[in-house]
Amino acid sequence: MDSWSKVDNQGDLSFSVDTCARCGFCKPVCTTHPFGGGFEAFSPRAKVHYIKQVMRGKEKLTPQWVDRLYQCTTCERCVEVCQTEIPLVHLWEELRAETVRRGIGPMPMHRKMGEAVDEHNNPYGEPAEERSRWMLPHHRPTEGAELLVFGGCTGSYRMTAMLQTGVSILQRMDIPYYYAGGKEVCCSSPMIRTGQLESAARLIGSNIDLFNDLGVKTIVTPCAGCSKTMKSDYPVWAGKLGKEWAVEVRHFSELYVELLRDGRIKPVRRIGKKATYHDPCHLGRSQRIFDEPREILSAIPGLTLVEMEYSRDNARCCGAGGGFKGHYPMMAEEVSDKRVLDAVHTGAELLVTMCPFCQASFSQSIEKLGLSIKLIGVEELLLQSVEG
Ligand code: SF4
Ligand code: SF4
Repeated sequence: MDSWSKVDNQGDLSFSVDTCARCGFCKPVCTTHPFGGGFEAFSPRAKVHYIKQVMRGKEKLTPQWVDRLYQCTTCERCVEVCQTEIPLVHLWEELRAETVRRGIGPMPMHRKMGEAVDEHNNPYGEPAEERSRWMLPHHRPTEGAELLVFGGCTGSYRMTAMLQTGVSILQRMDIPYYYAGGKEVCCSSPMIRTGQLESAARLIGSNIDLFNDLGVKTIVTPCAGCSKTMKSDYPVWAGKLGKEWAVEVRHFSELYVELLRDGRIKPVRRIGKKATYHDPCHLGRSQRIFDEPREILSAIPGLTLVEMEYSRDNARCCGAGGGFKGHYPMMAEEVSDKRVLDAVHTGAELLVTMCPFCQASFSQSIEKLGLSIKLIGVEELLLQSVEG
């Protein structure tokens, strides 16, 4: 057996590829399979078969296949339908890490992103002291608070509205929170998803030390990628790094819905609009947060919620995940355009999301296609309704 078997950190991946029933359920749902021009080699099924052959030493890992492994948004649609429950995204990530170990991955733009992370602790290459520039004048973090707001790189440096609004809601509810500014570093999601695990380990170690030093009990973040990574990857990595991990991680949607159910937040102002909600892959399929955003939207007086043809666990991807947009921007744009048009076809005036990556992709598509649908976050609608 080829040294690929060493990739099998969880002890189940080589077994997983053996269990593939070759049913092909994963093929029609795959976000990136259509870019393969109909060739089977681009389907998740074919990748599983190829990986099995590589593990058995019957195939060599060629640059062409490395490229195919990175042509994936880690959207988990394949995972959702796989009848033999192969942890496909986990498999793709493990294999990407192996390509990096062998010096044949990641793709050039991912490497650049990794260099920016290593130098500046964020994939955008922005200075740490600018990380808190999203804060509004009325935002007043409380030192020693048990709740820590984790901004994330995209939330802090690029798509800041979700973070600003989330913190404004905390202030309005008199919920004490702390924010660590430039001491917070990238959650490591882009590094894990693209197989750059040395950088990931450094970032995770730094964040865990920060959280433990601050003594926080709960972290809340507006980012689907950060919350997924901290919920699913941090506990495993804390073990590997020999660090204590006793923090509860929440996406802002979980906090809003709790405030709503407790009657602490009351949407009263009517918003007489038709809205459709997009389930971000890393919030919906990864964290099973499907109902919470819909519950919040349904509580807003006058707001009518209409579903897209593909929604909840079957939702189509925005194209931004897994480093796909970084290295394959044209394809990512096509994926995003398709999703925005799904929203337009519902007749909704508002396209509502809860992930800064989806927001970034959709805003570009809406502008490029000259569409009138308005992009907005769940939290913005909530705050507008509460402020009435
Ligand atoms: S995670 Fe998404 S893009 Fe990647 S193989 Fe699965 S369905 Fe295709
Ligand atoms: S859905 Fe799962 S079992 Fe079926 S072909 Fe795809 S990977 Fe194999």
